[in-house]
Amino acid sequence: MTEREGVIKFDLTHRAGAFPAPFNLNGLQRARRRLFEAGLVGQDPARYDGLGYGNLSERVGPGGEFVISGTQTGGKPELDASDYAWVLEADVAHNRLRSTGETKPSSESLTHALLYQLSRDVVSVVHVHCPRLWGAATRLSLPCTPASAPYGSLAMVDAVRRLWQSGALQQTPGFIMLGHQDGVVSFGADPESATEILFDWLEKI
Ligand SMILES: [Zn+2]
Repeated sequence: MTEREGVIKFDLTHRAGAFPAPFNLNGLQRARRRLFEAGLVGQDPARYDGLGYGNLSERVGPGGEFVISGTQTGGKPELDASDYAWVLEADVAHNRLRSTGETKPSSESLTHALLYQLSRDVVSVVHVHCPRLWGAATRLSLPCTPASAPYGSLAMVDAVRRLWQSGALQQTPGFIMLGHQDGVVSFGADPESATEILFDWLEKI
């Protein structure tokens, strides 16, 4: 089975329209610019069937709601508010998501949703594609989800939950997705710190 980055695998109920409340996108936008310039988020005809890759999100308030870059926005140099979706509710165990916004949420929203549910300290989640980091998982001793867990799957959700329960993600705020070509996830207290982790790792290679 070919892995298709852009395919939304969860059961999505999306209502097109404005955000339910004002949300300051500045932090996400700054982080996203940096990721795009470094090629960690983007679109390349030679990779992943030419589909856009990479996404980032930020928690909204104390519940499980978050704002995330939209599906297939990876190739855009600059996003605007209409390129983000607001996830209102995520039922991770049943692969279900409810969202609103001018665009549908990233196909990898379930992994973001799970991290927000695991800890209130997680305020931003970043998912990039980086062959260099992906290949350096062992060298950098990074936590990994197994090759048997493709993106957007319940197997991925279980794997991330296990990493969390093992304490590995409290030590290292991110992981390599061995079942998702070049896939890397990091998280932090805001978009800037979640992004910085990836650049710190890159410097160590
Ligand atoms: Zn991905």
